Amino acid sequence: MSVTTVQDMASGSDHPADDDPAPVRRTRRRSTSHLKAVPETLEERTRIKDAAEQYAASLNRSRALSKNELEQHGHTLLNRLGLPEKFLGFTMVMIGNFFWKQQFLAIPFERRMLLLPHCLKHAEGCPAEYTEFGLDCERCGACSIADYKVRAEQLGYKVLVAEGSPVVLKIIVSGYIDGILGVACLNVLEKAIDKVLIAGVPSYAVPLHSGDCMNTTLDEAWVWDVLDKYEPLPERTTSSYVPFMRASSRIFHDDYDRLLPPRKTRDSSQADTPVAVTEKAAREWLAEGGRRFRPLITLAAWHAASGRAAPTAGDDIPDIPDDVARVAMAIEAFHKASLVHDDIQDDDRWRYGKPTLHHVHGVSQAINIGDYLIGLGYRLIHAARSIDADAAADILESMSRAHLQLCDGQGAEMVWQQSAAASLTPLDALQIYALKTSPAFEAALYAGLRMARHPLADSDIIPALCRHLGVGFQILNDLKDWRVDAAGKRVAGQDILAGRPTVLLALAFRSAGQEQRQELQRLLKNDDGLSDDERLQRLHDIFEQCDVFSTAETLAERCGERAAELIRSVNDEPIRDLLHFFLETVLAADSGPTPAEHLDPSEPVFANLQPPAAAPALVSLGIPDSA
Ligand code: SF4
Repeated sequence: MSVTTVQDMASGSDHPADDDPAPVRRTRRRSTSHLKAVPETLEERTRIKDAAEQYAASLNRSRALSKNELEQHGHTLLNRLGLPEKFLGFTMVMIGNFFWKQQFLAIPFERRMLLLPHCLKHAEGCPAEYTEFGLDCERCGACSIADYKVRAEQLGYKVLVAEGSPVVLKIIVSGYIDGILGVACLNVLEKAIDKVLIAGVPSYAVPLHSGDCMNTTLDEAWVWDVLDKYEPLPERTTSSYVPFMRASSRIFHDDYDRLLPPRKTRDSSQADTPVAVTEKAAREWLAEGGRRFRPLITLAAWHAASGRAAPTAGDDIPDIPDDVARVAMAIEAFHKASLVHDDIQDDDRWRYGKPTLHHVHGVSQAINIGDYLIGLGYRLIHAARSIDADAAADILESMSRAHLQLCDGQGAEMVWQQSAAASLTPLDALQIYALKTSPAFEAALYAGLRMARHPLADSDIIPALCRHLGVGFQILNDLKDWRVDAAGKRVAGQDILAGRPTVLLALAFRSAGQEQRQELQRLLKNDDGLSDDERLQRLHDIFEQCDVFSTAETLAERCGERAAELIRSVNDEPIRDLLHFFLETVLAADSGPTPAEHLDPSEPVFANLQPPAAAPALVSLGIPDSA
């Protein structure tokens, strides 16, 4: 199997490229808004719903559908029905519903969540206030929210009147619910597919008739169809990554002190002494925040490569040896250390919705805490004594290589940042991405495979796959930096304001005419003394004129295609399924940190942003706050 490089990605060629590749030109943006129409009449909607039920009956339910598969099924069904593509989103939701419906109905009520949109409320007269949990419905009876909420809570559901899959995913990972009944517009459901459905969470969704966010309507009978039905199944059929998400979370909570015993802070009376301060801060930083995606991949790879049966949603956390868990924790320790140092280098203010460590403890202490985390990583690998010595040495080599490559990439980025970025080529930017992000993915995957002695660990597929995923992830992150919020206001742009060498900037310099290049340079240095908003607007205009966003989307798409091609060449089915999940998660359109995780909402340019959302006090949902 030929393995493509970042040069190939930048050039668009399947063969090694010249040093200075031509950017790929595309004229269309991959907007999905034209695919999210809801049929106007109940008759039309019911026709698609009934057809989807029939269609889904013949689907293989051994693993969750990927987004691509769901899309293909949607197209097939629409073709059969002779209906236009504009109903694709609606049709995908209907197929997803009937893929999962039996397994959703088999979940006890008290392990389900009902997620309602606040836009169902009576727009003018609703007396309810917004709290950190969403809309606090006062049950005035002016809209249907109260009806659903009262009945669902009587049955035992947890109910949220809020939008936001991150909160829902946190609650699922915490182990308190196993399935979701959601009412939402197709825009929100599209994101939920990326976050929830591909992970294997049994879900049933009722689409709103519009995405207007005010006085919206829905087919209410469709909610009642499932809300109070419970139909146990003799066995669950579809594999799920939720048990691994829970395992990845548990090793940093319930099992944390056992797997990584504290040294200085074991005795709480010592916790605030000067010699214990570093350990305390490092352990807290390691335990909290983030999606713990890298340890999840290590655990799931070890499990799949060991030939164990894949768990289904609702299964207990898989039985994972402590030393496998310690190696997964080491990956996270090295990753978190790199984030501490990266935040200092970029002077980022927010991470995981909280102030960054150097803004809390000062730069010197934060550097030291980052160094301590590296020490914890070594200690964890050393403590994993049941891993055979050769495997431990190989894993250590893989992690050290990842660390060195990350530093190479970070160093290159800082050189570009400090010099004139005008000479940055797309290839330069992609090489930085490949160095900064891909090696940690590779180390996480390799560790799981190597501990299970799976031959794929030593193939060239894993580094190539992780290179495509890492590069694609970073490109999507760059694009996310330019998204606009619901009000049409740009909410980020911090990369360009900080002068980071992104592939977007490189593509712009590559395609810009002389006048545009000069203006780009002036804007980057802010020679004209413009406000941040004015600079962002001008930069955005030049990027549009240079077709930068479309080209970057094409590059990200190509990364996904090449990763998928590599995955198809893997013969071991459980590993192949895991790699598909890896791809779908990393290259989800909404992947990467949210803009709010990086920004200071008090800055005028970001004045429209709310402070980073803290996890809700889950107590209000009947869930202990420690979850
Ligand atoms: S029922 Fe609840 S959400 Fe609906 S209008 Fe009344 S208070 Fe607002």
